[in-house]
Amino acid sequence: MSEQWVQFVYLASAALFVLSLKWMGQVKTSRRGNWAGTLAMVLAVVGTLAGFDVKGWTWIALAIALGSLIGAPMAIFMPMTAVPQRTALSHAFGGLAAGLVGTAEYYSNAPHIGTFTMGALSTEILLGYLTFTGSLMAFGKLQEILPTRPIVYPGRNLVSLAVLGTAVLLAVYLTIEPGATSLVPILMAAALAFGVLLLLPIGGADMPTVIAILNSYAGLSSAAMGFVMNNKLLIIAGALDGSSGLILSILMCKAMNRSFTNVLFAGVGTVQAGAGAGTSPTGRSVQGYTVEDAATVFDGARLVIVAPGYGMAVAQAQHAVKELSNVLSARGTDVKFAIHPVAGRMPGHMNVLLAEADVPYDQLWEMERVNPLFPEAEVAIVVGANDVTNPAARTKADSPLYGMPILDVDKARTVIFIKRSMNPGFAGIDNELFYLDKTMMVFGDAKKVITGLAAALKQG
Ligand code: NDP
Repeated sequence: MSEQWVQFVYLASAALFVLSLKWMGQVKTSRRGNWAGTLAMVLAVVGTLAGFDVKGWTWIALAIALGSLIGAPMAIFMPMTAVPQRTALSHAFGGLAAGLVGTAEYYSNAPHIGTFTMGALSTEILLGYLTFTGSLMAFGKLQEILPTRPIVYPGRNLVSLAVLGTAVLLAVYLTIEPGATSLVPILMAAALAFGVLLLLPIGGADMPTVIAILNSYAGLSSAAMGFVMNNKLLIIAGALDGSSGLILSILMCKAMNRSFTNVLFAGVGTVQAGAGAGTSPTGRSVQGYTVEDAATVFDGARLVIVAPGYGMAVAQAQHAVKELSNVLSARGTDVKFAIHPVAGRMPGHMNVLLAEADVPYDQLWEMERVNPLFPEAEVAIVVGANDVTNPAARTKADSPLYGMPILDVDKARTVIFIKRSMNPGFAGIDNELFYLDKTMMVFGDAKKVITGLAAALKQG
């Protein structure tokens, strides 16, 4: 393929990457976005293979076979609920690839490397390897191969910063002195170690935010690789990846009303002592209602709003919830789903689960749009959500949730709260909503309770 054609293919690929991100920003166009991203990647690979004087086709065929052997089963067999760890694993491979390409480039050309290229190479190696181990740690925590609670020890931030500082100093020194070949393995080791140290004190539930941050590191590493290899598409795709990862992590932090430093260094995720079945972290208890009790409040209801959360994912209750929605709709009730931006454990978690259960997109209402409707709703059903409904976010300045926008379920006439116990949610704090007169706590696994509720309503 002529150089001109390669550039044309790259341009088409870059445009598709941009469109893909735009389309993925909306539920309705997200599938198109996914296809555009896939096509962009195919064009990028084809353009690269066709445009360059490839010497080792056997190695390339082997790499494609190996990648497909790992990637295809991951895509086919990993359940929707495992998407965060699947993403972490992909980032680990991306980081490793960038790190290895950087290392190979360095040893093929050292010491004859210009300052700019060496600066990009050092950045690529540093970010690539730290993304590799950091993402592997995130995968281990989310898959519960590693302890999910934060592993904290005295002076941990100092140790992490010292290792990062060493890595940065080595990268700077190598940029000035590209011939110092013996320092590269030390730079690699420091980057690998920092990835592990960074992730140790972070709780499993904060992993999605950290994965978004690691995503941006992987993107920046690829952009640096683009500068090293003089490949414009890599620079564009890497910059898109880096900036979108950063924007996503900022949005997630905002939606949780937390800062970056709080996510990375505060060791959040330790449950308050005293929490357990039947009693809340503050030692209070409430009366539980049966499914049959709950079924009585739906008579004549015009609007019912379902607020799903992490517990719906744990219970895999999305199909049961859809069935309940069908039963209510058949009785003439308008059913809406209230989607909080950080409900569950990853961005879009509820959208993905409800889409899997074929809940139509127009029934999914984002927080800002649905909140004004709660006062009109006869019933709000909270399905395994907790923090995203906690009124402490509005009123308690000392609460870790303070300032986080919440779903105004407490404004509905009756609130049916489905969860297994009085245990707190991710933030580890009690929820005043449990104790309101209008709240009916129905204890049990979300799937069982919702299935029972749908059956009771069908009979009634
Ligand atoms: P929460 O973690 O606040 O609460 C989930 C509730 O689900 C728990 O109280 C639990 O209570 C209940 N539950 C668990 N399993 C089941 C089950 N099988 N059946 C019924 N209930 C169950 O979840 P939310 O979705 O309300 O809030 C998300 C939290 O995660 C927020 O604090 C957010 O900041 C944080 N977060 C979200 C991210 C995202 O991108 N979405 C990223 C990082 C953090 P019980 O054990 O009693 O059943």
